[in-house]
Amino acid sequence: MTLVETRHKGEVTIRDLAKSFLIDGEPLTVLKGIDLSIQGGESLAIVGASGSGKTTLLRVLAGLEHPDRGEVRIDGAPIHGLGRERAVIFQEPRLLPWLTVLGNVAFGLEVQGLPKAEAEARARRYIRLVGLAEFEGAWPRQLSGGMAQRVGIARALTVQPEILLLDEPLGALDAMTKMSMQEELVRIWSEEGVTMVLVTHDLEEAIFLADRVLVLPTTKGGGIRLIDIDLPRPRDRNAPAFVQYRRRLMSEFGLH
Ligand code: ADP
Ligand code: MG
Repeated sequence: MTLVETRHKGEVTIRDLAKSFLIDGEPLTVLKGIDLSIQGGESLAIVGASGSGKTTLLRVLAGLEHPDRGEVRIDGAPIHGLGRERAVIFQEPRLLPWLTVLGNVAFGLEVQGLPKAEAEARARRYIRLVGLAEFEGAWPRQLSGGMAQRVGIARALTVQPEILLLDEPLGALDAMTKMSMQEELVRIWSEEGVTMVLVTHDLEEAIFLADRVLVLPTTKGGGIRLIDIDLPRPRDRNAPAFVQYRRRLMSEFGLH
């Protein structure tokens, strides 16, 4: 068997990645020397202080931003811009207001040229998966924030990506909705077998969701750190081992 055949789909390899921006004519180094391999089907959380480059890293993985150096490979092949094997979910789902829930979720497939009936059949499967079967005829303005974000997740999954890239997807939700959505995300991730890369500033969310947590350096020039979250699932936020991870992650940021 060749190496390629033993790989899981959705494997991401990042080699010597660097990215800087020009601010007032001065280069600002945001990412530097990042090396990382994410296994197919893994759940990785990216945490870091505000401005540490979380969104930039995710945008590079999405192909929305070009790195200055280094490369990103997916299943061994270098990426060139956006790709169908990746789907991105942002904090705001930005649904199309003139389409129903079903219309929004089916939209991407119709754009890809799938016949409407087929697109809608597949869309329904993902609307069910996110628990909105009874709302497929609803309009975006009729949805709560949590429901709208579920639609966004269904829309991303409908195109059957290998990799889900999420930038603070639950950041705008209230605490209760957020916790139940975290449980939903874990369920969806395990049922779909996708690779999940999730940016969050919520350390508990990172521990709840991730196999590994990537901590971006707070001081420029510092290296990234990777922390394995060795906890059985479903995870209990109140278990002593969970609380210990939270303490450990907080100390990465100088918090107690
Ligand atoms: P985070 O998501 O961790 O808060 P970002 O990746 O959004 O951080 O931003 C990291 C740094 O890069 C910030 O200092 C930000 O101002 C800068 N930055 C991000 N995008 C751009 C851009 N398009 N042009 C200039 N500077 C940018
Ligand atoms: Mg950000």
